[in-house]
Amino acid sequence: MPSSCDNLIVRAFHDVIVEKTSRVPGFFKLSIAERLEYVRKACGLTPQEVELLSKVGNLTLETADRMVENAVGTMSYPLSIAVNFLVDGQDRLIPMVIEEPSVVAAASNAARIMRSKGGITTEATEPIMIGQVQLLDAKDPEASKRVILAHSEEILKLANDQDPFLTKLGGGAKGLEVRVLDSPTGRMVVTHLLVDVRDAMGANAVNTMCEAVAPLIERLTGGRVSLRIISNLADRRLARARVVVPKEELGGEEGVNAIVEAWSFAAADPYRAATHNKGIMNGVIAVALATGQDHRALEAGAHAYAARTGRYLPLSTWQRNQDGDLLGTLEMPMAVGLVGGATKVHPVAQLSVKILGVRTATELGRVLVAVGLAQNFAALRALTKEGIQLGHMRLHARNLASAAGAEGELIDKVAEAMVRERMVRFDRAKELVEELRSRGEK
Ligand code: NAD
Repeated sequence: MPSSCDNLIVRAFHDVIVEKTSRVPGFFKLSIAERLEYVRKACGLTPQEVELLSKVGNLTLETADRMVENAVGTMSYPLSIAVNFLVDGQDRLIPMVIEEPSVVAAASNAARIMRSKGGITTEATEPIMIGQVQLLDAKDPEASKRVILAHSEEILKLANDQDPFLTKLGGGAKGLEVRVLDSPTGRMVVTHLLVDVRDAMGANAVNTMCEAVAPLIERLTGGRVSLRIISNLADRRLARARVVVPKEELGGEEGVNAIVEAWSFAAADPYRAATHNKGIMNGVIAVALATGQDHRALEAGAHAYAARTGRYLPLSTWQRNQDGDLLGTLEMPMAVGLVGGATKVHPVAQLSVKILGVRTATELGRVLVAVGLAQNFAALRALTKEGIQLGHMRLHARNLASAAGAEGELIDKVAEAMVRERMVRFDRAKELVEELRSRGEK
């Protein structure tokens, strides 16, 4: 282990014990073993946890078989650590699982820049999920709506009887709303159960409640219930992040304006907004995967929320504040959990939660929205500066070099040559591998 790393680890040890920082200059230059050693010290990982992370194939076939049907194997993805994050005054090492090069580097870099004005601040609503009960064949939909509302208390009690544990924790069904919808097949009466799911993502808990109250709603109205299911448009369970980036970090007012203009493009055009929001989800989903979340639920919620006005809009805003600095905000639904789902079953998901140091689902959601905002900033900054390709291509070049047969140091040599030539292509990688090998390089 080089001495610089020894110093780093000693510093990390002191930082964590004394100063608690996620600011780790040169983290990317360390070997995998050195990075893991840093995380071990920073997060107090046990020898078993270190071994688990080092092991290729850290999900056993038995666990895989219990998680889903028809399992025939497992598939590994890289787990990385984004550094430099300061969220609500707290340093966090961020585990990210992602296949796309440059996302983790971009997040770490953005988080570093964002530290200068105190990092990212966040807030969240209570963890309220919505369950939907679809009532059909109601003779008088408006009268059905009135009767359901009149029996709210009875319906909520029946819902809460399904999950005494959740209600004991302070969660449970808290409210009820009824909507009459005109649909292509006629009018329908849709009851919403508003359920505080505490530290759960909540789908199972809410679906169970919806199924339990359906017969009562049928009895009260004389109608027929069909669907009883959670809504992924979790607009009562929002997380918000906010950051100020000083203009000096962006090369002055011009840099601030460029990002505001880039956001403005997304605000005016769904073609751009989709890609803008994809950049946010690069960060959110990478942490969601690392912590075993239902990432489809998060994606569905994010995009439905982006379109809630009837127009698809960017989830974030970027503006100039009164000092001429850049002010960024992000608000999005955050259906995440620490109990249930893969989070409890997958050993690496558990470990990621430990590395993050979050104790509640709401806290996890606040970290996710912070990462989303940083990722969004990184993309806009890159797009308004040198363009996104250069950074992407550097990392992509290494993948291509390896796919073209390069091994060891030759990977970097081939990648560097392609970036220098600005010709990052598979055919060029193959040529370079042959060329360098014929010169005896390894
Ligand atoms: P779950 O049912 O496994 O866990 C929730 C239960 O855990 C609660 O009902 C409660 O009784 C108990 N619990 C213990 N400690 C708790 C705490 N601190 N806070 C809250 N509850 C606590 O899981 P879930 O979160 O209800 O459901 C998530 C799963 O449902 C995910 O695997 C998801 O993929 C799946 N799912 C999603 C959808 C969808 O998004 N449309 C639909 C169906 C299923």
